[in-house]
Amino acid sequence: MNRKEFFKVSFAGAAAIAAASAGLTACASATRGKDAKSPAGKLNLSFQENTAPGETYGEKLDFMENLGIAGLELWGGGLAGRVNDIRQALNGRDIQVTAICAGFEGFILAEDPAVKAQFDTTMREIVRAAGELGSTGVIMVPAFNNQKPCRPHTLETRDFLCSELHALGEYAKSCGTTVILEPLNRREAFYLRLVGDAAAIARDADSEGVKVMGDFWHMQEEVSDYGAFYSAGKYLQHVHVASRGNRLMPGEDGEKDNYRDGFRALKELGYDKYVSFECGTQGDRATTVTRAVELLRAQWAEA
Ligand code: MG
Repeated sequence: MNRKEFFKVSFAGAAAIAAASAGLTACASATRGKDAKSPAGKLNLSFQENTAPGETYGEKLDFMENLGIAGLELWGGGLAGRVNDIRQALNGRDIQVTAICAGFEGFILAEDPAVKAQFDTTMREIVRAAGELGSTGVIMVPAFNNQKPCRPHTLETRDFLCSELHALGEYAKSCGTTVILEPLNRREAFYLRLVGDAAAIARDADSEGVKVMGDFWHMQEEVSDYGAFYSAGKYLQHVHVASRGNRLMPGEDGEKDNYRDGFRALKELGYDKYVSFECGTQGDRATTVTRAVELLRAQWAEA
């Protein structure tokens, strides 16, 4: 599943996408992001918009509540135009907005100033809406392999990235949320592959608004799940989970789907954010999703 597909299968009830242009003015209103965390030591699960079965937004949220799913991860494209719909849908429910998954245009390491400007404008628009929704942060990848022309992979580019992230992080902080660097695997994004490297960039960006995440699917790059999460330490703000062979629901790849080593690090860190599903399924969705939740809770208890 790629992010375009994710977008296509997002909730039908929130299809009205406003492509309002964004200003770069400071955002002082929202502060809920800092509160969007759950008790440490507990496995707080989150679903993306297409994870739960159901024809309508309401049916999907009912399914999530019945399973005790604490969070909802939203697609970032057009988020500003969906804020009110999302608030209404979650009103009275025990489900929080977790991370916002990308959705911006352009990319931060673009060599073309117009493409970089596209990123700056659309990313800040999403960050602002994320703050209004109390999101834990907006997920971003510095550069996918297919995004060209891209700044070269040099020390100067890293310095540039840290400087740009500092400004973006401070903006996110002023909006009550964060930006979250997502390392991917080398086939998708050679630039940033390791959770520990992302955390070092976040440290050097020197802003409380710059965080990182680990995705169990992409973490095939890591030598150790435990070491990867542990090295992220206080910068760890979000986790994605999928089966470890074919990116399906956890459990659909059988014995490969072992998350205990990573979960042990999360427990030791006192990680209090969310573990969010980012995966498809080959089975009956209601069945595979329910089994996946049971599997993750069992492994969390064992970790
Ligand atoms: Mg991911």
